[in-house]
Amino acid sequence: MFKENSNLSSIRKGQIEVICGSMFSGKTEELIRRLKRAKFAKLKIKTFNPHVDNRYGKSKLISHNSTEIKSLTIKKSHEILDLYDNVDIVGIDEAQFLDDELPNICNALADRGVRVIVAGLDMDYLGKPFGVIPKIMAIAEFVTKVHAVCVGCGDIALNSHRTSLSKNLVEIGSEKNYQALCRMCFIKKNK
Ligand code: ADP
Ligand code: MG
Repeated sequence: MFKENSNLSSIRKGQIEVICGSMFSGKTEELIRRLKRAKFAKLKIKTFNPHVDNRYGKSKLISHNSTEIKSLTIKKSHEILDLYDNVDIVGIDEAQFLDDELPNICNALADRGVRVIVAGLDMDYLGKPFGVIPKIMAIAEFVTKVHAVCVGCGDIALNSHRTSLSKNLVEIGSEKNYQALCRMCFIKKNK
């Protein structure tokens, strides 16, 4: 389904792929996996992540499982158009933190033949659709929803439950302040 789209073929075909799910669901791991596979096809890739996501070193993405790849930190989504350098594949992690321009930027890149892979939280800590992700899901060729394991019951988790008291929408996460929970365990915790 996700052909590596070798640049040996005559015309480069653009598309948008979304990898979404809760925290700890393996979005970053899956993004890195797809990007590393593309390297075998000798495709040029660039990866971006928003400035707000400063959990780790600024120049790379690292999953909770410690897989990593080089990445550029940006403040505004239009920087991607300035910096993407006509590569074959653009990866964007933690896209829920980027601004409303991002769907247009993804379309502009895909229209130019770039394979755009966007990873991000589909829901916030209250279970509401998060930022630009639903809009990018609507315009994407492929949407993959990945799941964490519910730490309450072991079922598949789709919610990111905040265990700290903060009410800010953006509260950078780790196992210290978030838990992956299934629908039923999330309802119980939020009663
Ligand atoms: P995401 O980007 O979706 O937050 P990552 O790709 O960074 O997720 O990390 C996925 C890794 O998180 C898993 O491979 C596993 O090692 C770890 N992990 C921690 N808590 C959980 C959980 N509740 N369910 C599944 N994986 C978890
Ligand atoms: Mg991640």
